[in-house]
This record gives sequence, structure tokens and C-alpha cells, in this order.
Amino acid sequence: MAQSPFQAKLGALLRPLEFAGRDGGAALERVRDLGPSVAARAEEIAALAIPREVRSRLEALARGFQDELREQPEEAVSRALAFLRPLAEPGWCEATLARSAAVLPGVGPKTAETFGRRGLGTVGDLLFHLPSRWDDRRNLVAVGDLQVGARATFVGRVLGTSFAVRRGRKFGRFFEAVVGDETGTVNLKWFRGGESISKWVQKGAWLLVTGDVKRYRFAKEMAHPEIERLAEDEVAPSPGESALRSIVPDYPTPDGVHSRAVRRAVQGAVAEYADLVEGYLPEDVVREAGLLPPAAALWELHVPGVETDVDALREGTHPARNGLVLEELYLLEVGLGLRRAARGREPGMALAAEGPRVQAAPGRLPFELTGAQARAWSEILADLAQPHPMNRLLQGDVGSGKTVIAFLAAIAAAESGGQAALMAPTELLAEQHARTLASLAEAVGDAAPRLGLLTASVPRAEAAGVREALAAGDIDLVVGTHALVQAAVGFRRLALVVVDEQHRFGVRQRGALAGKGAELPPHVLVMTATPIPRTLALTAYGDLDVSTLDELPPGRVPVRTLLMRPGEGSRADQLLRETVARGEQVYVVYPLVEESEKVDLRAATDAAERLRKAYPDVRVDLVHGRLDSAARARAMREFLSGNTQVLVSTTVIEVGVDVPAATLVIVEHAERFGLAQLHQLRGRVGRGSRAGTCVLMARNVTEDSEARLSALLRTTDGFEIAEADLAIRGPGEYLGTRQHGRLPDLRLADLVRDARWVARAREAAVQTLRSDPRLEGDPQLRGAVHSRWGDRLDLAGIG
Ligand code: ADP
Ligand code: MG
Repeated sequence: MAQSPFQAKLGALLRPLEFAGRDGGAALERVRDLGPSVAARAEEIAALAIPREVRSRLEALARGFQDELREQPEEAVSRALAFLRPLAEPGWCEATLARSAAVLPGVGPKTAETFGRRGLGTVGDLLFHLPSRWDDRRNLVAVGDLQVGARATFVGRVLGTSFAVRRGRKFGRFFEAVVGDETGTVNLKWFRGGESISKWVQKGAWLLVTGDVKRYRFAKEMAHPEIERLAEDEVAPSPGESALRSIVPDYPTPDGVHSRAVRRAVQGAVAEYADLVEGYLPEDVVREAGLLPPAAALWELHVPGVETDVDALREGTHPARNGLVLEELYLLEVGLGLRRAARGREPGMALAAEGPRVQAAPGRLPFELTGAQARAWSEILADLAQPHPMNRLLQGDVGSGKTVIAFLAAIAAAESGGQAALMAPTELLAEQHARTLASLAEAVGDAAPRLGLLTASVPRAEAAGVREALAAGDIDLVVGTHALVQAAVGFRRLALVVVDEQHRFGVRQRGALAGKGAELPPHVLVMTATPIPRTLALTAYGDLDVSTLDELPPGRVPVRTLLMRPGEGSRADQLLRETVARGEQVYVVYPLVEESEKVDLRAATDAAERLRKAYPDVRVDLVHGRLDSAARARAMREFLSGNTQVLVSTTVIEVGVDVPAATLVIVEHAERFGLAQLHQLRGRVGRGSRAGTCVLMARNVTEDSEARLSALLRTTDGFEIAEADLAIRGPGEYLGTRQHGRLPDLRLADLVRDARWVARAREAAVQTLRSDPRLEGDPQLRGAVHSRWGDRLDLAGIG
């Protein structure tokens, strides 16, 4: 970790003083040049960006120490030490940065309170409130040097204003301001809107002006230039000179706060506190990556020098920004690493990995595992054999074969006398899993787990039997919905929980679920068909281990995707007719969002009506979210059994439902769906051996939705689509952060743009924790991780 510039220099000042002060000043004589060296170092530190009261005491020390040393050497040394030692305490810088923004010049208690409500309540918050924009004013021209015919930017003061009358054909009143600096004057003219301009372009005001220079008679003029009023303090110290010929940062301004107030507060924070900022990344990492340590980075971003690469600042590629980004990600990754490690120490059930049933089962399956499945299975098996609970995410596109992996894991549990629960989000999916598992069980013969199904549709007496058998340990693998498995089910020895299709499962929820076990927490496997982009796998899901099925079983035909525009509806109709004529089935999907629920529902209902009328001999059904779950399940069952040929639905068709004869999905208003959602909908068809077709009907396409749709046409690979989705929507929306209170709650890093820093941060964090798993040797890093991520990662009591 890197000390703050302040503490690094303070160390050098303290060392000789500490030596001199030893044993009541016994060594005083032996320190040569103590006076001058203390004075010089104190002066040097006083020049840093540090709080004014510290600065003034350092200045006093620099001035008076030599005299004091001559008069009362022992007292002088002990006084200096009494002042300096507390500043060198670990934690002093952090505590000082936690001061209220109200300590800054120009920030009153009321402003500080408003800042606080906007997340800018402390000096540290303000320091890390980075500019959103930089104005490059390095090329300002002196008014005397304005070239007629060229566009230019200059700063000048308003010397006088007037409304004048324009003669000739374009007769009318116009507003004119004479603006100048020490080198000359120029006339600014507004032929329109002069009234409102005149209110703030007043005599004495400083303006930043950009426009085309013209000649009018003997003077230079600009008509309708772009202008910005500058505050006096932006122009000072010498108007038109150095302070202005610079790069000026512009800050994001939260509601209810004045932009000038933000700028002043941030700049004030930089001037008095920037050199207290510590860095936590190992110094060699910062150096190797060519980045700036945090204090220097903050200076560069808030107070760019004339040499600064403005384009890099604007593009977000500047080493100063990246340094801070890597710092931020590093703290997160260390936090995630602490969590993973803590879980790795938790006691759990070690399951038999070498038992005869586990060994025999894969070879008896009706198919050979794909390479990806074999890899995932061996990763999972290795986890299960550990005496610590597994926490693993199994991700793979629809149809990549996740269920069989869960099945094998359940065998491992059974072989060790443990039970497994597979939780599906809906009854229908639970039933489907039960069918799949039953056929797999048949295939593996005596290696099979004993199965049970628990859903609301299972008759009461039968369900009671399943519960009893579970409690007695006579069922090895129970399949049910989340609700049923979680509620009032007693296991004899729950060893494995498999959660299916649960993309939005928070860190804490997983913890709560794991509490269901017997004496030891069960292993947890989360399966998702919504692939997680790599950066998110390392951050939002960074506390999980991940296995990936990036390969489909052989012989799958990719779904054909067609994009249709308004006016091509008859083509879609024809496809529908042909599909039904072949004895296959069709989904027609409508979007439904809360804000326009009535209209959306209407559209779906009308479509069902229209199809019924147009094709009287085709059985058309309608499902939507307003139906209760039983009615919905009934409609889905009818479709599954082939009784219904066309199913019109709002977005309720469930992820993961397998209807082998469904080969066409028509998505109406495809532009209104998210990319991941569209990919899931497309995955509803072509589940059997027959090829599937997906028609995207685009009605009102925007730039964003066009990007989504073209990503779908480009690829059927769920991982590529997930990356594109993340890039289009950004991580916050992608994860639904607001609603779900999820990670990553990053202030600076952008998971799309900063993908490579995410990977780098992970590497560095792993390195750090490998040599010091509980950060015992680095309490400051530990403190920083806890204060930044402790709540979000539930780190209390960990590491
Ligand atoms: P997912 O849950 O990942 O969408 P499933 O586990 O439902 O996928 O598997 C989809 C289908 O593929 C099932 O019918 C399953 O039996 C079959 N399957 C799984 N693995 C293989 C394999 N290695 N080879 C051939 N078929 C497979
Ligand atoms: Mg599945």
C-alpha cells in the first residue's frame, strides 16, 4: 500500500526528531543539523495540500524551531513530537478525510447538508467527485490578436452595453456589448434575444466567448457568439492570463446544488486535503500498469496542468483516472476475496467423489457429456468433496445441459447419505425437471437417486407422503418451487441445494437459503441460463465460483432469426400458417410493462381474437400476467400437450419451459424488449430436433433498440449477447441495481469500459490475499475494505 504524500514526508520529518527525543533527549547532541533539517522538512510539508490548521502549525515549526532548539532543546523536541506524532498515526488521514464538507471555505452548514443528501457530505466524497467534462482553455486568444475570418475563443470583460438601432432593410433594435482585455476590444451583437442576454451580460462581467470574427467598418465584431459568464475567481489572479489559459474541470451537479458551489467545494477540498489520500494498491502494481497513485491522480483530474492530455481525460483513458478506477476495483475484489476465503473456512459436508455410484453414473447416461459439461462436473465434484460448502454458479445457454449436472451432483449427495433439493421458479418448470430427472434416473439404474416432487398441484395426501419420506431420508432428490422447498420442509440431511434459473439472487439471499441444512450448511449450486458477462462474474457475482457451459450438445440447429419491419406482417402470418400446417406450434409474444399495462393487454387480446377469426380451425389461446398462476399453468399445459397450437402471451412464457413441437416464436414490438429477454424468448423454440425460427417484429425502432436487434441477428451465442447487452444498457440497469440493491455499487469504475481493470484488480487482490489471507499485516487495507464494502458484502465478522 502507498502512504499519502503527507504521511510519507511526515515520516522523514519525524525520524530525526524521534531519535533526538529518545531517553529524555540523551541522543540530542548526536543528531547533526537537527534544526535546519526539521525546518526545511516542515516547510516542504506545509507546501502540500493539507488542512490549513496543520499547515499553519507546520509553518510555525519551520520558522521557530531553530530558535527554540537553541534555547530549550529538550522542550523544543518534545513539543514538536507532541504535535507531529498524532498526525502520523495510521488512520489519521482517513479520519481527516471523513470531516464534514462544512470545514471547507465557502461551504456553510446548509450547503453541507444538501451535499450530504447527495452523497457529497464529506471532504473525501468531494475529492472523489470527479469532473464529467474538461474545458480546454489553453488556446485562448488575446482580443488584440483576433483574426478576421477565424473562429476563436477569448476571455474579456464587458466594458459597456447598449441597445442600438439597425438601419437599412433589416431595420430593428439589437443588443451590443463591447468586450475587451488589455490588448483591445471587440463588439458582440445579438440581433435576436437581446433582451434576455442583456440581463446577464452587464458592464464589468467577465465572459468566455467563442465565435466567428468579422469586420464591421473599423471594428471587429462577433454576431451571436457562444458565451459563458465567468466568476471573478475563475479569472483571477491576473485576468486573461495563466489561470484561464488552462484546462477547466466541470462537475456533475446533483439536483438542488449550484454548479459553482460544487466546483468551489471540490477545488477547496483538493487544495487542503488531496495529499492526505492514501493508496491501497501495492505500489508495484501501480507502477507496472503505468498509473498514477491516488493523490497525484486526484490532482491531475481536478487541477490539470497545461501538459495534460485532455483527450485522454475526456475519453476516460487517462492514467490518473485509471489509477483511481483500479484502486476502487481492488478494494472491491479484496472484499470479495475475503468473503470467498471466509466461506472456504466454514465447515461443510465433504461428499464422496470416488464412490461407485458417482463413478458409474456419467457412463450410463443416454448421451456423452459435452466437453464443457465434463469440465463443469469435475469442478463441481471437486467442490463437493471439500469439507466446506460449495457456492457455485453454473451458467450456460438454454439447452446447454445444466439439468444433468444437477442430477449428477444429487447422486454424489445421495451416495454420502445426504439429500438434495432442486428449486425451480415455477411449478411448470419443477414438473418439467421432474420428468427429465426421472428419465435420467431410469438410464443410470441403481446409481439413481430416489426422486420426489413437491408443487402446489401435487395432491395433498401425496405431498404429505413426500414430506414424510424427506424427513425420514427416503427421498434423495426433491424437486419443487422455491416457495415449497423453503417452507416447512424437514430434511433428514440436506447436503445440496440447486437453484434453477435464478438470475437475480443476491449474496444475502443465498446465505439465508443455506441456513436450511442439518447441522452443517449445504452445498449450493445456482444455475442460470442468462450468461453473465465476465466483468460481472468478477464483481457482482465475484463471491461465487463459476462454471460455464459454453458448448451445446452436438446436433443442435441454431434458431433462424428474422427481423421484420412494419408492413411485413403478412410474411409473419404466412410463416405461422405454414408452421401450424406442419403440425408444429407457435408462440406469439407481446410486451407488457406496468406503465402501459392496459394497452399492452389489449394488444395481446386483440391479436388472439384476430388469429381465431382468421384461422377458425387453429386452436389459439391467450396467457397473460393477470391470470392467476393456476390458470396460467393450465394454459401452458394445454400448449405443452399440443392441444393448443398458437399461444399468444404477454412476457409470461417461462424461461426454461421445453415444448419440443414449438418451432416458431413471433415477438411483437421486439424493440421494447431487452436483449437478454429476446434471447430467452428465442430460446423457447427449436428445443427438439426440429429447426426453430424467431421473428422479431420491430415497430418503433430507436438507436438503442436497433443495436439490440442487430446483436440478435449477428449471433445466437448467449455470452456474446450478454456482453452486448451490458455494453448497451450499462451495469446498473443490466443488474437492476436500483430495485435489488445489488453490487456493484461503484463510484468510478465502468464495468464496460474498464473490463481490463476488473481483471487486473482481481489478480492483484488474489495476490494480496494469498500472502495474507486475513489482512492481519495490513490493518489499513482491511479497514478501507470494510468501510467501503463491509455493508454491501456483509463482511462483519469476516477477515
Ligand atoms: P438447460 O437446462 O441447460 O437449458 P437441459 O439440461 O434442459 O438444458 O438440457 C437440454 C436437453 O439436452 C435435454 O433434453 C437433455 O437431455 C439434453 N442433453 C443434455 N446434455 C446432453 C449431451 N451431452 N448430449 C446430448 N443431449 C444432451
Ligand atoms: Mg433448464
